[in-house]
Amino acid sequence: MSDQFVAIQIGAVSFVDEGTEPVLDILQERAKVNKLFLATPTWTRGTGGRQIPGHPLPDHGVQEYDLDWVGGNYATVHPEFYGNTVLGPVGRAPEHPDLDLLDEVVSAAKKRGIGSYAWIEESGYAAELRRYPNFPKVLEVDVWGRPARRPCFNNPDYRNWHLSIVEDYAKSYDLEGLAWCSERPGPLNLIIQRPVDASAISCFCDHCKTIARNQGIDPQKAQAGFRELLKWSQATASGAKDSDGAFTSFWRILLHYPEVLAWQNLWTESQRQLYRDIYGVAKACNGDLQVGWHVYHDISFSPFYRADQDYAALAECSDFLKVVIYNNCAGPRFHTWINSICQSLFADATPAEVYPLMLKLLGLDEGDYDRLPSTGFSADYVRRETVRAKAKVATADSPCLIYPGIDIDIPVGTNPVAAEDRRRRRESPVGINNDATSGDDLTHCTRESVRDAVRAAFDGGADGVVLSRKYSEIELDNLSGVGDALAGL
Ligand SMILES: [Zn+2]
Repeated sequence: MSDQFVAIQIGAVSFVDEGTEPVLDILQERAKVNKLFLATPTWTRGTGGRQIPGHPLPDHGVQEYDLDWVGGNYATVHPEFYGNTVLGPVGRAPEHPDLDLLDEVVSAAKKRGIGSYAWIEESGYAAELRRYPNFPKVLEVDVWGRPARRPCFNNPDYRNWHLSIVEDYAKSYDLEGLAWCSERPGPLNLIIQRPVDASAISCFCDHCKTIARNQGIDPQKAQAGFRELLKWSQATASGAKDSDGAFTSFWRILLHYPEVLAWQNLWTESQRQLYRDIYGVAKACNGDLQVGWHVYHDISFSPFYRADQDYAALAECSDFLKVVIYNNCAGPRFHTWINSICQSLFADATPAEVYPLMLKLLGLDEGDYDRLPSTGFSADYVRRETVRAKAKVATADSPCLIYPGIDIDIPVGTNPVAAEDRRRRRESPVGINNDATSGDDLTHCTRESVRDAVRAAFDGGADGVVLSRKYSEIELDNLSGVGDALAGL
């Protein structure tokens, strides 16, 4: 067996549908998998449940869509760990009520030499979370002072709830590590990259305001600045932009209200502090646990988000980073992202004009803008982004491993069935991983493209790979591309 770190993200439904031992057989035989990232808890179809409705079912598993999939915690919720939070021991996923995913899989995998990590997905936007008793009390507050939709990282009840899950897993199960996922870019990044409504601009709760005051940041000026930005966003999107241009009028608001920049940094630091807390709690409970973070696809698309997510700074609270370098779906996603920012910060230019500049700013080297939905990004993108990540963490004071996320059959494009499922579940309502492309010739993975992406990751110096996003959307032959790549290493 290869000694490379080869993890795969996989949810409870795959073991239920196909059986634990047969699934482990497939993963070992086709992809030399030696780590499992077990999706619990998760409330997003990106990592939980079967294939997204409207996209073709893969060639394994039950051939039926789970339209009523809800998500949540697939392990036993041990109530003694859930003190000091109004949320309490909530979160158990309603699917497979008799299954404890970690009990079922961890020891069976270990017998084969496969280690297990809990893949913990915050899914902060998920409608299901807001159905939990008391969840409305932990929500962010929007630019108009109203509770918004997502939870606040500075709310002690929300923080303690996640720390409870971490303590529960660390003390109750024989895990090798935790991988924690939060796909949220903060208020300024959101408003820059596409038109948004007021509820996306947060958080101005009392907890956040207190932290701001302690840092000498005026909450009232920050909130006033974001209200100006919201007006700017809506005027720009409607075509009624300032006569000085969208970019200049945006910059003028920054000059008048520098607090908006400080607020973006405060938001990012609040997320980072939760990372630190999770890291410390996990280590306190089990010093051998490996703890790391998913860094989502905006890291490749947005120089603004990239500035927030400095790998060298992240390394201080990370044993590893799972960096999203999904090369196939990057094409449709970046095509959509460029189009969106041209309705906001770069509304003075066209997508075809903005695209080449963004390639330069981001160190990307890809093909024509118009063809991105049908070409995707190259395998060399995986190598280049891996090199960049390794170079950054090499400057940190503490070691941090880089595990590129490898795209295997992540659905691309949108269709009415998938859009309705997304709307009903309130998944990613503000442009996170948005993909508005459609058509018959959209890019797709092949066994060879997967092989090339895995090779590129290791050519770039990767410490391992994480096969993404979930086994239940992966074609088996394409999974074998991983084994092809490893055989050549
Ligand atoms: Zn807050």
